Amino acid sequence: MATIISGKEVAAKVRAEIKKDCEALDEMGITPGLAVIIVGDDPASRVYVNNKKKACEEVGFVSEEYALPAETTQEELLALIHRLNGKPDIDGILCQLPLPKHLDEKAVINAIDPTKDVDAFHPSNVGKIMIGDYDFLPCTPAGVMELIHSAGIEVSGKNCVVIGRSNIVGKPMAMLLLHENGTVTICHSRTKNLKEICAAADILVAAVGKPKFVKADMVKEGAVVLDVGINRDENGKLCGDVDFDEVAPKASFITPVPGGVGPMTIAMLMKNTLKAAKLQNNL
Ligand code: NDP
Repeated sequence: MATIISGKEVAAKVRAEIKKDCEALDEMGITPGLAVIIVGDDPASRVYVNNKKKACEEVGFVSEEYALPAETTQEELLALIHRLNGKPDIDGILCQLPLPKHLDEKAVINAIDPTKDVDAFHPSNVGKIMIGDYDFLPCTPAGVMELIHSAGIEVSGKNCVVIGRSNIVGKPMAMLLLHENGTVTICHSRTKNLKEICAAADILVAAVGKPKFVKADMVKEGAVVLDVGINRDENGKLCGDVDFDEVAPKASFITPVPGGVGPMTIAMLMKNTLKAAKLQNNL
C-alpha cells in the first residue's frame, strides 16, 4: 500500500515558514499585498478567491478584492490592472480565471506587470521558467514539486509521465520535472498507447480533468502518483483524476483528493506573493 503524501500537512508547513518570513518583513515596515480580481459570479471562482483571501490573512498579508460585474468591459478590466501595476502597496496581482467569454484572457494576462504576476502566467515569466531562470513558478506544478521533495523522492534519471498539456498545469509541470533531470513524456488526448506509456512511469502526474481516469493497469508497481485533478464523481463527491482505491495498493507514494495537490496551490501562491514583495522592495 502506498504512502499517502498529505498536501494538507506540507502546505501547513510552507504557510508557517511564509508567516515567519512575513513577520521579519513586518519589522522592516513591509506588508506583502495581493490584489485578487474576480469578474462575474462563477461559484467555483468565488470559493477559490475566498480561500486565497483567507490564506493571505493567515500568513499576515494584506489582500484587496476587486469584484467586478460580469458585464465589465475589456477596457475597464485593463484599466484596473494598469492601476494595480502602479499601486506601491500591491505586490501581487491575480485575476481569477476563467473570465466571462467576452473578455480576452490572453490580453488580461499580458497586461499584468510580470514582477507582480504571482500566477506566473505572463509570457515573460513562462519564458523564464523554460530557461530555468525565474522569479515565480506556476502554483500548481510548484506545489507538486514541493510534495515530491517533502517525500524525499529523487526525480533525477526517473521516467516521468505527465498526462495533460495545459499552459497552467501540464506543460510547466513537465518543465519542472525536466529541470530536476527527469526523463519526461507529456501525454494528451491524441497520445497513442497511453496505457503503456503511463505504465512505464516511475513518477506519474495526472492533470486530465476526468474523474478516476487513471486505473491500476496504467500504473507501474511502486510508482509515485501525483493527482492534480479536481472533479466530482457520479455521486457528486470530490475526486481526482486517479482512481485512488485501485491505484493506491500498487503505488509507492500517492496524493489524495482532496487534501493533496489542492492545498499546495494556494500555499505556492502565498510563496510567490512573498517573493513579489521582496522583489518590489529590492530584497
Ligand atoms: P485542461 O482541460 O486545460 O487540460 C486537460 C489536459 O488533459 C489536456 O491537455 C487534454 O489533452 C488532456 N486530456 C483530456 N482527455 C484526455 C485523454 N482521454 N487522454 C489523455 N489526455 C487527455 O485542464 P487543466 O490542466 O486546467 O486541469 C486539469 C485538472 O486539474 C482539472 O481537473 C482541474 O480542475 C485540476 N486543477 C487542479 C488544480 C489544483 O490546485 N489542484 C489547479 C488547476 C487545475 P488535449 O490538450 O489534447 O486536449
